[in-house]
Amino acid sequence: MRDNDLFQLALGIASPWFVASSHFDSVRKRLDIGVDFKAGSRFTCPDCSADGCPVHDTADKTWRHLDFFQHQAFLTARVPRITCTKCGVRQVGVPWARKGSGFSLLFEALAMALITHMPVAAAARLVGEHDTRLWRVVFHYVGDAVARMDLSGLRRVCIDETAAKRGHDYVSLFVDIDTRRVVFVTDGRDAKTIEAFADHVDAHNSDASRIKEVCIDMSGPFIKGVTENLTEAEITFDKFHVMKMLGDAVDKTRRAEAKARPELKGSRYVWLKNEQNLTATSRETLAALSTLHLRTARAYQLRCAFQEVYAQPTRGWAELMLDKWDSWAIRSRIEPIKAVAKTIRRHRDGILAWFDSRIANGLIEGINSLVQAAKAKARGYRNRDTLKAMTYLIAGKLDLRLPT
Ligand SMILES: [Zn+2]
Repeated sequence: MRDNDLFQLALGIASPWFVASSHFDSVRKRLDIGVDFKAGSRFTCPDCSADGCPVHDTADKTWRHLDFFQHQAFLTARVPRITCTKCGVRQVGVPWARKGSGFSLLFEALAMALITHMPVAAAARLVGEHDTRLWRVVFHYVGDAVARMDLSGLRRVCIDETAAKRGHDYVSLFVDIDTRRVVFVTDGRDAKTIEAFADHVDAHNSDASRIKEVCIDMSGPFIKGVTENLTEAEITFDKFHVMKMLGDAVDKTRRAEAKARPELKGSRYVWLKNEQNLTATSRETLAALSTLHLRTARAYQLRCAFQEVYAQPTRGWAELMLDKWDSWAIRSRIEPIKAVAKTIRRHRDGILAWFDSRIANGLIEGINSLVQAAKAKARGYRNRDTLKAMTYLIAGKLDLRLPT
């Protein structure tokens, strides 16, 4: 068997295409395979699928293919432009590569397989390409899979933001609670963000009115966005955000009080956790500080008491408990706590909605930390598009349909 026939079989190239030449350069560690089509061949129009279009002219193109052992391999072919009676002069596609790509389909499949296991920059080093070329491949396959996403079954969504770059810039994540996958990632964290999501749902075999439950934090723009664009959705305010707000109020109280009460010095950590999660030493510190009639200790008790609201067996019980908590908090004379209590009053329904929906953003926090870990490993993504693509890859459970 001649080399060319062997390569033709291995490449799976079929008529009218055939391997016309192969050249192995051991010094440059490079294998070049020349592909051509039989003289007089006619091609199908890429636009209207009309058969039998004659060749107008050709242009040489080269694609990187899978390595041949330790040598880089390239395919070169003269690619015809055909004359279609309906469409005019058109460039035809080749069966081994996507239009516009400098890689063969199999090389792209290899690159994508690597990228699901390592940062793009590392994959790029491994195959000896610049990472911007690999990002183009990622954008194509991710974009294609996202475009094919079927959201007809989507009913319950949690929405949260994640930092894109060193804290200034945000993207919002939309996670299907039932399938536990990211269904949308977009810029910003405001009402427009939710509008963009509603459009995304409409464009993916569904309708925004099919969304019945959403979990968000208490940010005004998110509430506005949901109310205006996801009109059938019940809002549950994320309990982790509510508890975090109370934790922040405790911390603010401590910082204000620490100026006059040196005993509080170094106690920050003690007040941030639930008593049962503290180490033995911290628990002793907490017990000692609790006897000192500190405002911080009262703020901490109020925070812990709010957790009891969530621990109630029914919404009815929780409402009773919340009323008690509210009057205690408002009369506490601790400003940060009073401020949170007022916020909780204004968002009471959505907070208590948790007793019916039982949804929270814990799931999204988990996804978030995966994304942030990947971001750290890649030493920050160059821009939001790379972050979005990685988020879909990591947590979108995409149907990538890679070439085989
Ligand atoms: Zn045509």
